[in-house]
Amino acid sequence: MSEYFNNLNNLPNNKVIKEMRKYAISNKIPIINDESLTYILHLAEMKKPKRFLEIGTAIGFCSINLACANSDILIDTIEKSEEMYQEALKNVKNAKLENRINIHLADALEFDTEKLDYKYDLIFIDAAKAQYIKFFEKYQGFLAEDGLIISDNLLFHGLVAQDKKIENKNLRSLVEKIREYNLWLSKLKTFSTTFLDLGDGIAISKKVKK
Ligand code: MG
Repeated sequence: MSEYFNNLNNLPNNKVIKEMRKYAISNKIPIINDESLTYILHLAEMKKPKRFLEIGTAIGFCSINLACANSDILIDTIEKSEEMYQEALKNVKNAKLENRINIHLADALEFDTEKLDYKYDLIFIDAAKAQYIKFFEKYQGFLAEDGLIISDNLLFHGLVAQDKKIENKNLRSLVEKIREYNLWLSKLKTFSTTFLDLGDGIAISKKVKK
């Protein structure tokens, strides 16, 4: 997105968010880019979600932005790394959002879903890219009837859409996993999915009504 539009969009920008942006840059923590964030905030503005579930908290950047822009949203977010979890806890506390953002320290694939009592209007998948099919399968049952599942980083820095052979074996296998997810998602009969070439590539999936 152009800096020009980015400035016009007035993304949430309080002290805590500014500090998180700095922290992410200096510690090389991937946070959602402004283009995808703008889109998700726009979706939230239209859908007015009451409940948001995030797989992959990192430092809490996306959740804190959503909570700042939506004063009655309640958030559950799951983070596997203890270090990230601690950082996210600190940020949520600094933003005074402890009563609306509930961070769970767990591997989302092992997480005890008994702790989730609700159906979510938005579910955001933004954790280990090789596990997206498993995340989707595990958490789709927690989606509200008219809810949306958003998946992030489906182009993975453009690598997923390019034909050139990737030399690094781990990276190649990761990219193949993302391709597999994209294809699987596009063929999934129970959901209708739109892939959007914005940010690092995102998909929005909506349950097909029976
Ligand atoms: Mg992401």
